[in-house]
Amino acid sequence: MPRFPAIDIRQYRIPLITSFRDIDHREGLLLQGPSGWGEFAPFSDYGVEQDAFWLAAAFEMMTGQVPKPLVATVPVNAILAEQEPAALTDEVHRVVSLTGAHTVKMKVGSTDTAIDLARVAAVRSALDACLGDANGAIRLDVNCQWSVATAAAALTELMQFGIEYVEQPCATVGELEQLRDEMPDLPIAVDELLRRDRDFAGAARVADVVVLKVAPLGGGREVLRLASELGLPVVISSAMESSIGLSRDACVAAALSEQALASGLSTAVLHEFDAVSQPLIPRDGQVPAQLVQPDSATLAERTTPPNSDWLARLAAAWDTARHAGLVPAEQLQALQDQS
Ligand SMILES: [Mg+2]
Repeated sequence: MPRFPAIDIRQYRIPLITSFRDIDHREGLLLQGPSGWGEFAPFSDYGVEQDAFWLAAAFEMMTGQVPKPLVATVPVNAILAEQEPAALTDEVHRVVSLTGAHTVKMKVGSTDTAIDLARVAAVRSALDACLGDANGAIRLDVNCQWSVATAAAALTELMQFGIEYVEQPCATVGELEQLRDEMPDLPIAVDELLRRDRDFAGAARVADVVVLKVAPLGGGREVLRLASELGLPVVISSAMESSIGLSRDACVAAALSEQALASGLSTAVLHEFDAVSQPLIPRDGQVPAQLVQPDSATLAERTTPPNSDWLARLAAAWDTARHAGLVPAEQLQALQDQS
């Protein structure tokens, strides 16, 4: 296998302030290329095919090929950590005052839908108290946890709370089509169908909104191409990377400004610290669309040389990405010239 084309490779491990998506920290690699640092941080449950897309997205950053923003900032939603109803009231006040966002996203999908009802009701009253009645929007993410029957029963109740959309109430296109037949007015967003199943035709049939995660889908250019092919409203969303990858995601959202809804890019607030000195924290509900890069002091303090597990994972992703033709020839050339 040819030597991996990077000037430098660093590893980070960032604790989360609260456990989220069943993890309590994020880790990944920072890869230095001729035009800057990229990020390779696939989740531990991703396979090598998914890792290869993530690496292609890193190469795009390393070679200066991230799409150019059309606007200076992009609006974001705030994200609520999973909590009990009483704690959610404080959590809404905290994230709305911290980020200035008027849209909050929360996870639901409990088997006991009474629990989700209580949680969403608490979030609605807290949002109304913060922003004025019905001024704030709520996004629900079920992460494919419900059957059609459970989704229909739960969402019939939940829609009274002013829901902007519900993300993947069920896992498959067939289930989502059945749910759509039962609830024709339900706004459905898809995420796993795109980044995990890569079923773009199926997504186009069932979705009102597409959640596009830049790194798992292979980079900003691929996301712009997909957005144009799908022709639906887009939510650009992070995969909880460091602010290096997050800032790339903000540039991609800003390159799509007409099609883009508030982006899911406020996840840096979940990090105890970041791989850069100026993390991408929203102000007035917006983040800047400008690439953030690490300085040498921050790299020395907060990153380490990569361990053998991550280097093996990187090598396998590199092999797969090259054989799958995921890295454009001019990027490959630029990377090989520098190393
Ligand atoms: Mg999701």
